[in-house]
Amino acid sequence: MRALSKLPFLPRFSKQTTTIYPKIYIGDDNKITADTLLHEYVHLADWKKIGLLFPILYLMPQIFALLAVAAIGGNLWWLLCLLFLLPIPSPTRAYLEWRAYRAEMIFEYVRTGQFGDIEHRIEQFISANYYFMFPFKKYIKSKFTEAANCARVELTGCLSEALAEAISSLNP
Ligand SMILES: [Zn+2]
Repeated sequence: MRALSKLPFLPRFSKQTTTIYPKIYIGDDNKITADTLLHEYVHLADWKKIGLLFPILYLMPQIFALLAVAAIGGNLWWLLCLLFLLPIPSPTRAYLEWRAYRAEMIFEYVRTGQFGDIEHRIEQFISANYYFMFPFKKYIKSKFTEAANCARVELTGCLSEALAEAISSLNP
């Protein structure tokens, strides 16, 4: 985990709580909230489901810079692979983070009736925090809004159903 924190495209890795299956590493401040725990749990569950594909998808396309090692064989063109270290967007990392941030947002809604700071979540996708993994603010905002609307409708439906059941069970 600490070694990974040295990667240039994960600049804040050691400061944040993060997951490397099968463990969750608590950030430098040693604090973890239920929201963050759920976020990391989504990563754990995804990692468990798809195995080694998870870290590969997460680190794409920057992970392709490793191919530069092939230059040792004499063909220096492989060094061009180092260009993958540039902040090229990563739809795969963004998708895996999206699953976790969406769960966190819905959990907050269930807990408090509010979706929390959606702008802060959007910021994670477009900023250096995750190496500019998805710098398309409008799109990611529409996805969060869509998920929020969906949760509002679904959960209200589920809650009213549960309430109706509870009320009917009270009636003889
Ligand atoms: Zn995450």
